[in-house]
Amino acid sequence: MTTTDRELEELRQQAQILQQINESVISMDLAGFITGWNTSAERLFGYSAEEAIGRNVLFLYADENEEDTSFEDVFLDRGGREMEVRRRKKNGEVFWASLQLSLLKDETGQPNGLIGFLSDITERRNSAEQLRLHARIFEQSEEAILITDAQERIIAVNPAFTRITGYSAEEAIGATPRKFRSGRHDAAFFEKMWASLRESGYWQGEIWDRRKDGEIYPKWLSIGSVPDATGEVTHYFSIFSDITDRKRAEGRINHLAYFDALTGLANRVQFNRLAEQALSESKRKGGFGALLFIDLNRFKPINDTLGHTVGDKVLQETANRFRACLRGADVVCRLGGDEFAVGLFEIASREHAANVAQKLLAAMDDPILVGGRELKLGAAIGISVYPEDGLDTETLLRQADIAMYRAKQTGPDGFAFFSEDMNQRAIDRLNLEADLRRAIERDELMLYYQPKVRISDGVIIGAEALVRWRHPERGLVPPGEFVPVAEESGLIVHISNWVLEAACRQIRLWTDADFPTMHIAVNLSARDFSADLPTRVQQLLTRHGIAAEWLELEITEGMLMHHTDTVIAMMDEITGLGVALSLDDFGTGYSSLSYLKRFPINTLKIDRSFVVGIPDDVNDCAIAGAIVGMSKQLKHKVIAEGVESAEQLAFLKSLGCDEIQGYLFSPPVPAEKFAAMVHEGKRLVA
Ligand code: C2E
Ligand code: MG
Ligand code: MG
Repeated sequence: MTTTDRELEELRQQAQILQQINESVISMDLAGFITGWNTSAERLFGYSAEEAIGRNVLFLYADENEEDTSFEDVFLDRGGREMEVRRRKKNGEVFWASLQLSLLKDETGQPNGLIGFLSDITERRNSAEQLRLHARIFEQSEEAILITDAQERIIAVNPAFTRITGYSAEEAIGATPRKFRSGRHDAAFFEKMWASLRESGYWQGEIWDRRKDGEIYPKWLSIGSVPDATGEVTHYFSIFSDITDRKRAEGRINHLAYFDALTGLANRVQFNRLAEQALSESKRKGGFGALLFIDLNRFKPINDTLGHTVGDKVLQETANRFRACLRGADVVCRLGGDEFAVGLFEIASREHAANVAQKLLAAMDDPILVGGRELKLGAAIGISVYPEDGLDTETLLRQADIAMYRAKQTGPDGFAFFSEDMNQRAIDRLNLEADLRRAIERDELMLYYQPKVRISDGVIIGAEALVRWRHPERGLVPPGEFVPVAEESGLIVHISNWVLEAACRQIRLWTDADFPTMHIAVNLSARDFSADLPTRVQQLLTRHGIAAEWLELEITEGMLMHHTDTVIAMMDEITGLGVALSLDDFGTGYSSLSYLKRFPINTLKIDRSFVVGIPDDVNDCAIAGAIVGMSKQLKHKVIAEGVESAEQLAFLKSLGCDEIQGYLFSPPVPAEKFAAMVHEGKRLVA
């Protein structure tokens, strides 16, 4: 093989290598006209060698004014730098390429061409671009971003994080997000969050955190875990925004939707909501209640002549006065204009609605002061009661409205019930209440005494003091009729005071007359059972100069059910004085044995309703037996009330009952008659 042959062979081999290498290799003359185009270049650009060779490389450029600084480098022999350029394929697609140019020289060393190596770097550039983009988002995000490692140690936070929390990156990095906890969420909350993270790799929700300055704020938080290829979590990220403003706005919107802007009372929507709730509960549990429709009198002329500002003030003052009349469970709303509504969802009796109506009317008695003027308004109130008058808000409000018109016709200030029957009952009741109020002043109350006797020897050991009312027209009114009215109107406190005073005065007379020691029992109402009771009892004993063992107080199970600890303390104080306590109407409540053990009670009174069936009713006998058994266990005395027959007495005696009280021995009688019995030494004969 000649030298030229060998040279030719070499060239052929080089050309073959060129064809096979993965990079596109393009050669050109010094003016840029393409002289060589390998297979890779064909693949990359989509042009065949025939199509490309002979054309100027410029036709491959994506940007027409690309400054070819690369050529300079090459000519100045700075060695072909690698550069990134944009090129266009035959199909029009533009791509990023890395280009390296070198100078070709002839035998004499004169440059005679260029060779370019080109490869597609779109993918590489894209991921770099993405990284830059991500960094930018991280930096610029409005939302705080926090990244931790698998051990929950913070490794990065963004500027928004610092803005929201007040912690700089230096302060945050290395800590765990626990540093920001507000203490508002319990362990269960975070357990749930972690369970969700473990299960789905994600959690989102509202959470309260604490800023560096100590302020607690709500944020909307998304947390995610980042697993590696094997599924092992390597990082957690959380993204959150401060939603203080949003929450505030929500609260405002909520308030606007459900409350009257002028008076701050509930509006019609809210009233309907609450009323529907109460009504559906009443359907389920069988309760009752009342709706009041209130229309102001003389408001319109004030509003028309003195202007809306004055009108608004009047409405605000009225709303305040109404609110002050009502209890926590009652709802008052402004329906619109000068119309209001009240829902009484927890009342002791339907007639009680009349008392509330009276209070509301009384609240309008004093003139309203606006700008130095005294404005006298009034109101007409209509009342409907459920379930009798209806069981939906609309019907009840309509009927209350109708009743209000009736009240206006007879008034104009006043109230009326929708049903005639209720009107009559309310009037009777109000009259009774008014009469009762005067009863104490007019000295119409008196005490009867019903003896209590010991079964073992039939001796009178005491008496229960029972109040009687000598009504000037009605005659003797039994306590069953007026005590509930007195309890509801609050008058009971005066009555109880009167009874306690009267009983103590009587005890004093009997002790002065050298009576044997008796237990004189006084009934108390729930309202009497207040914190100052022990002191009041103590003062009574001192004032009347009587021994504590003469006095006994009868309370009912219901009084023990609430605030147990304070009640026990009070009872301890009373028994500590030497005054005995007995539990009246026992068996009608829900006391359990273990519950009863806690109270310092001396005597259990078996309720008359169980005594009635003795000895024929098996259940009554069983209950009476159980109560006697229970009393023995608790070391309480036990007395049966309402004993009318010898058979009842015989059965109670067989059970081991200690004492009885009832018509069998004596009904309640005036004090002199009771004294006479004691004098005579009257005994129960078994
Ligand atoms: P209570 O304390 O259970 O009183 C017993 C009631 O049973 C009394 O009725 C009494 O007259 C009646 N009774 C007694 N023995 C018999 C009997 O053999 N057969 C029948 N059928 N009845 C009998 P009263 O005096 O009408 O009192 C009714 C309730 O009024 C009392 O029940 C008590 O809860 C309350 N009460 C009476 N006086 C007062 C008082 O001064 N203050 C308070 N807060 N409540 C009182
Ligand atoms: Mg009693
Ligand atoms: Mg009783």
